[in-house]
Amino acid sequence: MQTGALSQVVGQTPLIRIKSLSDATGCEIFGKAEYLNPGGSVKDRAALNIITEAEKSGLLKPGYTIVEGTAGNTGIGLATLAAQKNYRCLIVMPNNQAQEKYDALSALGVELVTVPPCPFANENHFYHTAKRMASERANCFWANQFENTANFRAHYQTTGPEIWEQMQGQINAFVSAVGTGGTMAGVSRFLKEKKPSIHVRLVDPFGSGLYSHFKTGTLTATGSSITEGIGIMRLTANFKEALIDEAVQYSDQEMLSTLYHLAEHDGLLVGTSAALNVYAAYKYALEHKGSGQKIVTVLCDSALRYQSKIFNTQFLAEKGLTKTPLL
Ligand code: PMP
Repeated sequence: MQTGALSQVVGQTPLIRIKSLSDATGCEIFGKAEYLNPGGSVKDRAALNIITEAEKSGLLKPGYTIVEGTAGNTGIGLATLAAQKNYRCLIVMPNNQAQEKYDALSALGVELVTVPPCPFANENHFYHTAKRMASERANCFWANQFENTANFRAHYQTTGPEIWEQMQGQINAFVSAVGTGGTMAGVSRFLKEKKPSIHVRLVDPFGSGLYSHFKTGTLTATGSSITEGIGIMRLTANFKEALIDEAVQYSDQEMLSTLYHLAEHDGLLVGTSAALNVYAAYKYALEHKGSGQKIVTVLCDSALRYQSKIFNTQFLAEKGLTKTPLL
């Protein structure tokens, strides 16, 4: 077991074999349990490396305020570390995310600004708002998780190597959704450098442009999704580092059926992006049924971060979603 400062217990997460879906497909499906990080998500890794690199380069100095635009998890990751390191935090979020994330950020003592969700071209988008506020105030460091490739390097230096070691190099496929692209880029690049034949599949929710970009070269989106932290309509510097073989797109209903399946059959309480990831891993396994292929995906955060939505019957009914069994 690890001991040490908060920053020293980020990462080194277990890789959990997802028994029900492995047994059902004759493949081996593993989920990297990122919800066990101190801030509760995969974004702790990016937050830690963004802070570490900025401290080294002198962009972040004692007494500074860390500013970031985020769907929430990066904000929570930054805020947990900031609390320990005596930085202040200013977090800008769209106002349609799960209440649990705002509550956690408030408890962590951050200054929270919310903006209406809008297209990236709108200057009030959370990304532009964070950038603007960081430039208008003194002694601020803008984390810029989308374009700051310290994010990608966090996964290239930790998540990828951990997966490789935990699987002892026995891995056939890696499947992941994309928010900033840091996880996908860091892990896919590390794994393919080790073993180029590893198949990398991007899974996109509806309302995101990456699937169409992969298929046609154009970023277009149809529909929408209740998933949080994934899906994007532009190509970030972090995403550009990714090595992807294939893209798929799945619905919220497929995601939600997986989320409830994992809770009931595997005792895994995972969030919406994790459930989409596992569904995509399961679909890959079905295509290779009985082959024993080893597939790894990421359990980005916990269902408990979204319980006001995904365990709320009225919310699900409004979205036209049901607890339809997966198998
Ligand atoms: N899942 C959740 C719940 C997230 O918050 C994020 C980050 N926005 C991701 C997945 C995607 O991670 P990345 O930014 O590394 O693409």
